[in-house]
Amino acid sequence: MPDKILIKNAHIVTMNSSLDFFKGDILINSSRIENISENIPGNENEEFDAQDFLVVPGFIQTHIHLCQTLFRNLADDLLLLDWLKEKIWPYESAHNPETLRLSTQLGLAELLKSGTTTILDMGTVNHQDVIFEELIKSGIRAFAGKTMMDYGAIPDGLQEKTHNSIDESVRLLKKWDGSADGRIRYAFAPRFAVSSTEELLRETGRLAHEHKTLFHTHSSENLGELELIKKRFGTRNINVFEKLGLAGKNLCLAHCIWLDEEEKQILKDHDIRVLHCPSSNLKLGSGIAPIPDYLKRGIHVSIGADGAPCNNNLDIFTEMRLAALIQKPVHGPQTMPALEAFKMATINGAEALGIENDTGSIEIGKKADLTFIKLNQVHSIPFDNVYSKIVYSTHAHDVEHVMIDGNWIVKDKKLLTIDEEQIFSNIESNVKRIQSYKY
Ligand SMILES: [Zn+2]
Repeated sequence: MPDKILIKNAHIVTMNSSLDFFKGDILINSSRIENISENIPGNENEEFDAQDFLVVPGFIQTHIHLCQTLFRNLADDLLLLDWLKEKIWPYESAHNPETLRLSTQLGLAELLKSGTTTILDMGTVNHQDVIFEELIKSGIRAFAGKTMMDYGAIPDGLQEKTHNSIDESVRLLKKWDGSADGRIRYAFAPRFAVSSTEELLRETGRLAHEHKTLFHTHSSENLGELELIKKRFGTRNINVFEKLGLAGKNLCLAHCIWLDEEEKQILKDHDIRVLHCPSSNLKLGSGIAPIPDYLKRGIHVSIGADGAPCNNNLDIFTEMRLAALIQKPVHGPQTMPALEAFKMATINGAEALGIENDTGSIEIGKKADLTFIKLNQVHSIPFDNVYSKIVYSTHAHDVEHVMIDGNWIVKDKKLLTIDEEQIFSNIESNVKRIQSYKY
């Protein structure tokens, strides 16, 4: 393949600071965007005619659980704590390297085919190397880390000793952080304060600072969780994180539904990142996160599908649409316009992960992470506002091509890096293994 690719005649949604949207060309040199303009002459570059497509920044999902994709449609209609104890934790403890590999491939296949090019993944307690191997093979850009669990009533297979959990995390960081030319980064991932000792949280926070990476966890998702925290720490989630020295812009907190005034102030003061998961919050009956309030206060919000068993898809278009719609009955139809939801799924996601100089928008010098959306579909024409089209009427299967780091990952809807046929033929036997596991 020639080093340079010239994308011609695309409808380019840049998400640069002026929100430029125009018909033009993008010249890609190796992994980065070398030029964007209304007309770039061809020369001897490989040319790709994109006149039938909207080209948007590759989507970024800041909260995903690839290890749970194999549990899709196996854990429905339960509250968070029951859902975890009765279904998710036993299933996660049942994973062997083979089932985990399949789960990871299945999740990545869905994400990539629907235009997501970067994720922050919460891994699982065991066999995390398998997830990294598959992330690298798939071509996706990712932050990931093993889940850490060292406190409370947890199935045997997931219960860890504090020092083992930390040692294993550091081993994984040393092995995988910065791999695939920096496309893969390590992110420390204690599951939530409920299943973590203070020592684990504090030491992990110190390590995340030392290695200049992220601290990824769940917070304030469910009222039962809040009660457990109150009983144990005598205070609330965000106060616990602040007290343990974790508050900072590398602290990435999934959910943040139930926060009091003081906690919101802590988020703002320390530039803590909120990872909003609207489908998951609705399906587990957890609540509606007060995102318009956060945005008004200047709190940073990005978006993620969470895991397949609490969604049950990993589709960014559903998440954007819901992020916008669920606020409107409460706050009025002008709240959360389409542009705001699109921003949370692109440039805000990049900022949450600290990689906004590399991705999140289509600009000269950035990585060529691009999603090509079919322009003319009966369910999405006509349009005036391009963001409305993307957020309110586009479907995941309108994504036709996906490029990451200048490489084609999906072409004509075909995933080039993962063997889908192999996934289909292995699903049934592996789900049976998970379901029949005795713990
Ligand atoms: Zn989650």
